[in-house]
Amino acid sequence: MTNLVAEVAAAVDEYPTETAIAYDGTVTSYEEFWDRAGRFAAALDERGLGPDDRVAIYLPNLPQFVTAFYGTLRAGGIVVPMNPQYKAREITHLLSDSGTKAVVTLAENAGAVESVVPETDVEHVVSVGEDVESATEFEAFLADETLDVVDRADDDVACQPYTSGTTGKPKGVLLSHHNLAWTGRTNAELVEGGLTTDDGLVGTLPLFHIYGMSVVMNAALVNGAAYYPVTEWDATEVMTSIEEHRLTVMYGVPAMFNDMINQPDATDYDLSSLRFINSGGDSLPIEVLETFEELFDAELYEGYGLTETSPTTHANKPGARRKGSIGKPLPGVDSKVVGPNFEPMPRVEEGPVDEDVDLDAVVGEIVVAGPNVMQGYYGLPEANAAAFTDEDGTRWFHTGDLGYWDEDDFFYVVDRDKHMIVTGGYNVYPREIEELLYEHPDVAEAAVVGIPDERRNETVKAFVVPVPDADLSGETIKEYCLDRLAAYKHPREVAIVDELPRTTTGKVQKYELENE
Ligand code: AMP
Repeated sequence: MTNLVAEVAAAVDEYPTETAIAYDGTVTSYEEFWDRAGRFAAALDERGLGPDDRVAIYLPNLPQFVTAFYGTLRAGGIVVPMNPQYKAREITHLLSDSGTKAVVTLAENAGAVESVVPETDVEHVVSVGEDVESATEFEAFLADETLDVVDRADDDVACQPYTSGTTGKPKGVLLSHHNLAWTGRTNAELVEGGLTTDDGLVGTLPLFHIYGMSVVMNAALVNGAAYYPVTEWDATEVMTSIEEHRLTVMYGVPAMFNDMINQPDATDYDLSSLRFINSGGDSLPIEVLETFEELFDAELYEGYGLTETSPTTHANKPGARRKGSIGKPLPGVDSKVVGPNFEPMPRVEEGPVDEDVDLDAVVGEIVVAGPNVMQGYYGLPEANAAAFTDEDGTRWFHTGDLGYWDEDDFFYVVDRDKHMIVTGGYNVYPREIEELLYEHPDVAEAAVVGIPDERRNETVKAFVVPVPDADLSGETIKEYCLDRLAAYKHPREVAIVDELPRTTTGKVQKYELENE
């Protein structure tokens, strides 16, 4: 077993003067970062907060996020990360459900926090930025001295991010010190030779989301690498920063890579310093992957995971990858594709499969087991019962994602369970149609959903974002699909739109499209 705080403390001992965080021209060494985290921990301790007390971090990617995160863990507390774009109504549920005692927020959001304090157990509000009434400014909050690390067991909870999963209100996900330490270490091993003090990681993924927190921030800090937080995504600014700082590792969501390839001056940037690039969080269309690799003369590896699994469970890596696949289970993770009675589905010979394969015969739910799987949802016994199946001593977690696997153990996601379309009795997997649409030269982005239909119960609707200056109509798209897809998969409706609705973590919001 491993422990996140112990691993980072070891990195601090080994690399005290190396860069831990570089932001906006300011460089923070490991020693300085650890000292600030210790002073944050002492500030919590002075206020009577310690083991198992929840501290919410309601910030964009800033060095203060990193300080508050590790400060809370050093004090034995539990971090509740919150999307800084949430409004008062949204944070009320997270703060009251988790019983959070302290909140670290941007000064501009302090009002929203204050307004919900009476409905929650929040006792302390710490603000980053200007001084605001009723909140303590971040630097003033830090104690003068550091607090010694409060030892926690590897199984103790370190972090409680919220996720909606497939349905319902956001649920608190209990991730232990071991879950997070294992993930930070194992993800770094996907990079050839591991992460070292020579590596700089592009911090574009939001820290309130497990992908940015775990795979980027924690992976950097348990290995002595430098973390470069980026507060807001801007493709050209990020490419400029990669070139300027010779950054070596980038994790992103498909929307970011798609944005990069659609910049008119994309090839003017020198991204040759990147030695590992990974896409996750949503399916990466093969067309986007190939264009990216061609334009930047780089390799882009897809991975997969969920908040509940800290997150990564599957990944492609140098020497082991298949385009269109989420990769193989990480070493130590078990995974399989199961049917409705938990029976393993047959494997295909080699994916991704083409039109001739009957997907219904091979697609099932992806389940996983391993050291990164959460302890459970916070205070929700029914949700926990539904999320796990025990089989011969293995605790399998249901991902809610549909996919298939091949004989070489590569896995393929076809969609979330909820988004499969059933039209006139046929199952349609949106991914297949989206891949085809991305191949059209005038299409920049595409998403496919099911919409209600009187005759067929559901029918296929495509949302398409054209490339700049293209003269693209719904009719053109329909014609394009005619001889490329079986009739029941044809989009009956096509909407040409300026952009797709996305979550702040970059996933296409299919629920929104379905309800248009
Ligand atoms: P989250 O809990 O926000 O990390 O969301 C997890 C969900 O993101 C998964 O259940 C999948 O539906 C989706 N996801 C993550 N990675 C991929 C991927 N590589 N391909 C397809 N879907 C993905």
